Amino acid sequence: MKPVAASYYMTTVCNAKCGFCNIWEGPAHLKPKLQKPEGVKHTLTALKTLGVKYIDFTGGEALLVRNLPDALRQAKEMGFKTGLVSNGFLYPARANEIEGLVDSMSFSLDSADEERHNKSRGLKCYSRVLESIEIARRRNQWVNINFSVANDNLHEIEPMVKLAQELKIVCHVMPVFSYFGNEAMDLRYAKAIRDIAKEPYISVNLAAVKFVEDGGNDIKKRKCIGPDANIAVTPDGKFLMPCYHAAVEQVPIELDVKAQWNSEKMRHLRDMSGRYDFCQGCTVWCYLTPSFFYTMDKYFFLQMYSYGRSSVNATLNRLRDRKLPGIEKIATA
Ligand code: SF4
Ligand code: SF4
Repeated sequence: MKPVAASYYMTTVCNAKCGFCNIWEGPAHLKPKLQKPEGVKHTLTALKTLGVKYIDFTGGEALLVRNLPDALRQAKEMGFKTGLVSNGFLYPARANEIEGLVDSMSFSLDSADEERHNKSRGLKCYSRVLESIEIARRRNQWVNINFSVANDNLHEIEPMVKLAQELKIVCHVMPVFSYFGNEAMDLRYAKAIRDIAKEPYISVNLAAVKFVEDGGNDIKKRKCIGPDANIAVTPDGKFLMPCYHAAVEQVPIELDVKAQWNSEKMRHLRDMSGRYDFCQGCTVWCYLTPSFFYTMDKYFFLQMYSYGRSSVNATLNRLRDRKLPGIEKIATA
């Protein structure tokens, strides 16, 4: 099995303090470390050798890392597709530096209401997200919103649908997942998410919704294949096994990564993904949704349908909205 995706954690530092995430509570760095170019090259070369095609540059807040553009440039030069998820706070200041280096740019939004979003993020970033969307569009950057539905923001669904339609931007709606004792989305709310799947500009992964309803990962019949679907790597070039969210081991990436990947130790660690006790009921989408692509079952087909529909809609929207006015004009129209 060849992993096609990777999550490259550029830093564990974040400028936000979201209630559904504990990354910002991690090791207290004062500021993100610079990524050494040779370290980045070593990591990217290893991912290429293992067959990875798409890298999500993530964190923490990856835009806090000063030399993120160098890492993105290296990745593009090596032929990777790149993705970047951001809380939007720093994008307006750094959009110039990363222009042309990101294939898919996502901004997180928890509410259509400025005050509630800023409260949820512990950061005044709502207006920056709107500004970022406008800047990204002017640069012809492929951009979307990510909206995670939790038990305390179910009432945000309707206003978020309206906002996405007003802004004419694709909004990916996903159930929030639990991984550090935070509450997962109550499965009764799955219907509410499914109900909006047909709305214009709304993208719902129906496989994920079904997976929540089915109770998440079952360790006796694991669905998560962890790093065999999505490899997590640390800022300093280590494999996080089996995943970032519940790493039992950090393994430094060796020069002969193919031999390392197929070594007895790594095969054991890979095989344990989705089978640990802590994997029971897991819905950490970073690994689960890539895992859905590896077995032809209901999740595979639901996901293919959802992604197909979403990308056709996104392309049509993009063509239709080619000459978008500025966001202020749309919002006040
Ligand atoms: S912005 Fe992202 S990494 Fe930072 S605290 Fe929020 S969810 Fe976590
Ligand atoms: S099931 Fe969840 S905790 Fe277990 S390896 Fe997969 S993502 Fe990590």
